[in-house]
Formats: sequence, C-alpha cells, structure tokens
Amino acid sequence: MDLRYGPEYEVFRRELREFLTGWPLSGDEAALPQAEQERIFRGRGIDAGYVYRETPEAYGGSGQPSDPLRDRILQEEYGRAGAPGNSLFQGPAMLVPTLLELGSEEQKQRFIPPTLRGEMSWCQGYSEPGSGSDLASLQASARLEGDDWVLNGQKVWTSNADSADWMFGLFRSEPEASKHAGISYLLIPMKQEGIRVRPLRQLSGAAEFFEVFFDDARTPAENIVGQRGEGWQVSRSTLKHERNLIGNPRMISDQFDRLLALAREAQVGGRPALSDAGVRRRLAEIEGFVRACETSNLRMLSASIRGEEMQVMLPMMMTKLYSTDVTQMIWKLAYDLLGTAGLTDCEWAPNYARDSTPPAVVQNYLFSLGPAIAGGASNIQRNIIGERGLGLPRDPRPPS
Ligand SMILES: Cc1cc2nc3c(=O)[nH]c(=O)nc-3n(C[C@H](O)[C@H](O)[C@H](O)COP(=O)(O)OP(=O)(O)OC[C@H]3O[C@@H](n4cnc5c(N)ncnc54)[C@H](O)[C@@H]3O)c2cc1C
Repeated sequence: MDLRYGPEYEVFRRELREFLTGWPLSGDEAALPQAEQERIFRGRGIDAGYVYRETPEAYGGSGQPSDPLRDRILQEEYGRAGAPGNSLFQGPAMLVPTLLELGSEEQKQRFIPPTLRGEMSWCQGYSEPGSGSDLASLQASARLEGDDWVLNGQKVWTSNADSADWMFGLFRSEPEASKHAGISYLLIPMKQEGIRVRPLRQLSGAAEFFEVFFDDARTPAENIVGQRGEGWQVSRSTLKHERNLIGNPRMISDQFDRLLALAREAQVGGRPALSDAGVRRRLAEIEGFVRACETSNLRMLSASIRGEEMQVMLPMMMTKLYSTDVTQMIWKLAYDLLGTAGLTDCEWAPNYARDSTPPAVVQNYLFSLGPAIAGGASNIQRNIIGERGLGLPRDPRPPS
C-alpha cells in the first residue's frame, strides 16, 4: 500500500512546516497572555489559508476549495507543532458549520466572523434533566411575545455556560405539536437577568458543566435558525458536527505512545511493567484498536477523495463509538499502572503524571469517561449505526 500523498502535497506540507516554525511566538509577542497568542497565530493561519479553510472569506475564513488531503496534512502538522489551528470550541466547531448550512445571510454575517476570531463564545443548550438521549422530549419553552422570544425552563450539562457570551439552544415553541415538530433552534445572549448559571462539580474536582435556569429570559425574534418549529432538523446538523469532532485517530495514537512510555517506566511487582504478561496482553489488545482506528481513517480519507459519501458515513459513525472506547482503555491501563502512586507524587512517574493535581493520568482517565456520553451516548450511537448505517430494523420507539 502506498501511503505517500504525492509531490504536490509534499510541497504543501513543507510550506506548512515552515509556517509552523512561527509557533510558539517569540519576542514581545511571547509575553502576551496565552489566549492572545493563540488568537494572533490563528489569524495568521487564516491569512495563509491554513485555518477555517473552507469558510468563505466574507465570513472570516480562508475561502479555500475543499481538499481532504490538505485537511489531513493540516491536522497532522498542527498536531505535531502543538499550534492553534481550527478551534474545537462549540462556536467555531458546531455552530459555524450549522449557520453556514442553514443560517440566514444576516446571521452568517453577524455571528460567524466574531466567533471565528474568538471574540464571541458559545455554549450548547440541548440537554435537560429529563431529556438527554430522548432529546426531543425537551420541555424548556419559548413563547413569542412582541418582537422577542420569552424563555423559561432549565438546561443541564451545559459545558462552558459560565463564560459563554451566547447559547445555541433548543426550546419548545409549539406546545400543541408532536414532540419533534414543536421545537425551535434559538440563539440567546447569556448575560441577562433572566438567566442563572450554576456549576456542577465533577468526579475530578473540576466544574466544567453547568445548570442553566431561564426565568422569562429574552432573545429577539430574528435569532431563530431555520423555521419556527423546525429546530429538530437544524439540531441534527449541529450534532453531526459534534460527533465528527470526537475521535481524532492522531490523538489516539499520541495517547497510546504516552501509555507505552509509562509502561516502560512503571513497575509491576518490582519489575518493569512492560515485562509483565498481563500488561503486554492489554497493550497488544489496545494497539489493535489504535491501528484499526488509523486504518479506518485512511479508508474514509480515500473514499472522501473519490467523493464516495456513503463509504465515508458508516466508518464516521463508528469512529465516535470505538475511539471513545479505546481512549477509555488507554487511560484505564495508565491508571492501573500508576496505582495509588497516580494519586500522589512518585519517583518514577513521568512528568506528565506529576504535573497537575490530581495528576494528569487520573484526570485523563476520569475525563475519558465523558466523550462516550457527550454528543449522544454509545448505546444510541450503536442504534444509529445499526439503523442508518447497516439498515437493521428500527429500535421500538414510544409514540411521539
Ligand atoms: C463531557 C460531556 C459534555 C457535555 N456537554 C453538553 C453541552 O455542552 N450541552 C448539552 O446540551 N449537553 C451536554 N452534555 C450532555 C449529553 O448530551 C447527555 O449526557 C447525553 O445526551 C446523554 O443524556 P443523559 O445524560 O440524560 O443520559 P440518558 O439519556 O438518561 O441515558 C442513560 C443511559 O441510558 C442509555 N439509553 C438511553 N436511551 C437508550 C435507548 N433508546 N437505547 C439504548 N440505550 C439507551 C444511554 O446509552 C445511557 O447509557 C455533555 C455530556 C458530557 C458527558
């Protein structure tokens, strides 16, 4: 199998590597706050045609033609350089593609450029206490009153709700309609009296999720994406982009390399962990999945170069499912290798296991449990793969 990308792409890679030598910033710029440095370098990436490639220039992107191979090279090289490329935050990664697909011209002009520049931040208001997997049962309401939507109810597990300027969220606007038909997709300013945000403390000690309470909160009538009562279709677009975000094979290979480094240093029963048969068996099993992720990703790449959308869809659905499982396996083994030492400082633990409190391995293990739930739990993903990917009979559903 010839995995080379061809001369044109190797020139592209060389030029890109040259550009990426500009990160980290140097001189006076190196003294700026980290977020400001990232903003500057991302701006340079847009000007050079490397960042937000396919977003039209009129909305603040690079306006380049679609090219899956260039996208892959960018992902590889930005990852290698640890440089800020396309932001993975909810605004740029989920809302912007949704607006490009389904937003009005006014919404595109108003919201996309500041979101890409990092001047407008977003959170996603979908889940509610009684509505997660069965999202269409959501109850938070939107009532049109004069020129405003008036919002009441509660959202939960809202990542970054404390810092976000805006929320893209789903609200029931037609209480009489069937559950999928009565929802609208609204853009809501977060800093207002009718919105209260309360942190949820996680197992890791951090509070990255929030409950959001709406008590006669308001947003102007024009801040609806798509038609009134058709928010469900709009939300499908955002969810597709969210699921595609989860499961980058390069990240999984990097994590596996870190696990191997740990296995070389850690001790099991007074001997190097790598010489233990049980550890070797688990490593071999994980490596099988890691290499399968890489191969599957290459197959998707070949299919998308050939424009075979159907050949891309099924492996893409599967990527979220197995990449989240593999990530959990990697960090679970790392956690087991560290044992109680993972909770404290210890001589042989590599730096990355010692640098934070609790140490990064423990933190990564606890975090790895989340992506299998976020953006649709694994069981739901299995249903989607079975029904839409493999054409199996539909799961029985309660009447809507
Ligand atoms: C890291 C992280 C970040 C998140 N960020 C956000 C955010 O920013 N905004 C937001 O709106 N939400 C967010 N969420 C919430 C997430 O979307 C929900 O947790 C998810 O949709 C599952 O809903 P639930 O927690 O209510 O679980 P439930 O839907 O109650 O599911 C519980 C269990 O039942 C299973 N189950 C449910 N229905 C079925 C079925 N039909 N068939 C088989 N099994 C089933 C599920 O697989 C799961 O194991 C986040 C979650 C995580 C973990």
